[in-house]
Amino acid sequence: MSNQLKILLSPPHMSGNEQKYINQAFETNWIAPLGPNVDAFEHELAHYVGSKGAAAVSSGTAAIHLALELLGVGKGDKVFCSTFTFIASANPILYQGAEPVFIDSEPETWNISPVALQKAFSDAKKEGKLPKAVIVVNLYGQSAKMDDIVSICESYNVPIIEDAAESLGSLYNGKKSGTFGKFGIYSFNGNKIITTSGGGMLVSNDEEALQKARFLATQSRDPAPHYQHSQIGYNYRLSNILAGVGRAQLEVLDDRVSARRKIFETYVSNLGSIEGVEFMPELEGTFSNRWLTTLLVDPKAIPVTPYEIINALGEENIEARPLWKPLHLQPLFKGTDFYSHNDNIVISEVLFARGLCLPSGSNMKKEEQDRVINVIKQKFNELTITS
Ligand SMILES: *Cc1c(COP(=O)(O)O)cnc(C)c1O
Repeated sequence: MSNQLKILLSPPHMSGNEQKYINQAFETNWIAPLGPNVDAFEHELAHYVGSKGAAAVSSGTAAIHLALELLGVGKGDKVFCSTFTFIASANPILYQGAEPVFIDSEPETWNISPVALQKAFSDAKKEGKLPKAVIVVNLYGQSAKMDDIVSICESYNVPIIEDAAESLGSLYNGKKSGTFGKFGIYSFNGNKIITTSGGGMLVSNDEEALQKARFLATQSRDPAPHYQHSQIGYNYRLSNILAGVGRAQLEVLDDRVSARRKIFETYVSNLGSIEGVEFMPELEGTFSNRWLTTLLVDPKAIPVTPYEIINALGEENIEARPLWKPLHLQPLFKGTDFYSHNDNIVISEVLFARGLCLPSGSNMKKEEQDRVINVIKQKFNELTITS
């Protein structure tokens, strides 16, 4: 085991300005899940992404849950969802007693396949049961093919929830990722491109719906002098202290995007020419925040699995991870309907079998990235010599 400092996948990166907003919260005694930082953070984020409004909540998962609730998703309803994603994209479907239908990736963005989505819609139409919503996920900073997806969903009149937890600051045809659906969600978990330690945001152009989201997120308290409740509610609002952290983080978001893109470029220029190594593409017309640098290894070109590389990095005290395991393969979702992009090959399964994420923190030093690159180069050299 290496005695060098651990290099993490995506650690928090504070700007130094966070304390100013935290102090304001303390000085005014707004130590609550509401207050001036919450209001300001909502306005500033909505302004940044170009949506009419935003509701700050305690996590990205909570934001997805509220979006489903606002769209009236309930028991027995179907919700289409990207299969290639983190479990948080789909867990709220189960909270509502609804049924997910998972949709495969396509190779150009690794995100939801318009072809598979169209198949799922055609079948649902034939069965006479359309989904109540479609959850579209933008992984590792790359936007899905939103033009195609929006046009398919509009033709069936089914609303989109855009899970942009990993793509804050990314663009699709010049428009901010997360603003293409009826609702968009962002996450400020500790490993995301900006963080509040934990937190999330729901965005929409429907301000009435956002007002309803705030109501649901504060236990659905009716306007009465006593505590009165006519419907189920949640405790999902974001703390005014954490919203202060978010405000300072938002100020440096564009710097964080540039730093992560530079890290990606450095990996590509050092490892891109290795036979059998392929980096995540960036679709023409899109701009990825490159939240995590991800790559695929081709077992036909080089006899190596992602786990061997991950383990080699682990021995040098470097954290790397496999790509998301598709949700249709998760034990939790055994037996769930799934639509693949191709008949004979499931794109998300290939990505999972071949891919890994490299340390990509915006505060990673050049020497640290050199350490990562050298371990990978060495591993590939060994393999080329022995094979
Ligand atoms: C992080 C993440 C979430 C959940 O966000 P939390 O704030 O951790 O609840 C949802 N979807 C994706 C794709 C994520 O990466």
